[in-house]
Amino acid sequence: MKKQDIRNFSQEDLLRFLQGKNQKAFNATQIFSWIYKKGAEDFDSMSDLSLELRQILKKNFYFSKLIVEAIKESRDGTKKILFKLEDSSLIETVLIPSKERNTICLSSQVGCRFSCKFCASGIKGFKRNLSTAEIVSQVLFVKKYFFNVQLTHIVFMGTGEPLDNYENVLRAVRIFNSTYALNIGARRITISTSGVISGIKKLAKENLQVEISVSLHASDNKIRNNIMPINKKYPLQDLIRACRQYFLLTKRQITFEYILIHNLNCTLDDAKRLSFLLKGFDFKLNLIPYNKIAEFNFEPPIKLEVLFFQNQLSKMGIKSTLRLPRGTDINAACGQLRFYAETKNNTNLRELHTNFR
Ligand code: SAH
Repeated sequence: MKKQDIRNFSQEDLLRFLQGKNQKAFNATQIFSWIYKKGAEDFDSMSDLSLELRQILKKNFYFSKLIVEAIKESRDGTKKILFKLEDSSLIETVLIPSKERNTICLSSQVGCRFSCKFCASGIKGFKRNLSTAEIVSQVLFVKKYFFNVQLTHIVFMGTGEPLDNYENVLRAVRIFNSTYALNIGARRITISTSGVISGIKKLAKENLQVEISVSLHASDNKIRNNIMPINKKYPLQDLIRACRQYFLLTKRQITFEYILIHNLNCTLDDAKRLSFLLKGFDFKLNLIPYNKIAEFNFEPPIKLEVLFFQNQLSKMGIKSTLRLPRGTDINAACGQLRFYAETKNNTNLRELHTNFR
């Protein structure tokens, strides 16, 4: 077997591997604890494992490294880290501290194949899925080197479509959630999707309490087809039906994300259509002013549009929360993360550069 990053293994995978090598079941728990609780990055430091087991592990596994290419810090405390992966691909991870929570926003893919017409992450297309190890390492790295305070929430809202990398993302979620690993409650982990119905259906059967966010962004198929090509495969009515079924099966409330784009999707008619679509089931709705992306012609909404839209929805019995963007000054806000980030010789990117390894 080719050596692989041990963080690609779930606890069950590790257990199976160890059993195959005549090792004890509790060794899997010990190894998990070394990696995820104590932050071990080599097998020699796992001092309570037998020498034989450490040799077995060394022969079969390794720890890949995330290299910090750059770090930027926003005026509002948000930090963006640009990581280089083993194959030199670059990904971004964002840390969003606030009074009551510390959130990490993870990337799930290098680039994105969904090409939403308002999002920078898809501009250069799709390169590859991240492995479970690469997803989990973003959190381990931040825990180890950044947050002095507790990391409380994980959101898959960085680059990529998490439900397009289903297996690796779910394995990572289980590692975050496991009491033997990071012990982060599933309800504090959010998977955001552009509306991959097949993934939503699968997720409904996982018996996991994760939060799910669905990026809606339009009230009818015409507008949604134009700004989110995935709508041609999974049209709005089918998406909402899948969400209703998800709720019926899991009793978990879905959060809909709706970005407000000037003169496009926040008129009275949009409010009417949206309230009709969402009528009669339990959900949360976040309204997010569009963050300007230089390559696209869309503009953020004016204040009046935002207030009008929210007010109209409210009159129709739809409660919503207005979300204010974080980290816009360092291009770390929603939709601003991009495949290969800014060009590498941008000196700004090196402002806070720290050579960790
Ligand atoms: N692919 C997933 C997760 C990544 S994006 C998804 O589509 O949900 C996380 C959120 O940022 C999504 O709701 C996405 O639609 C939103 N977003 C993308 N570009 C944006 C922009 N320019 N301004 C505001 N939100 C944006």
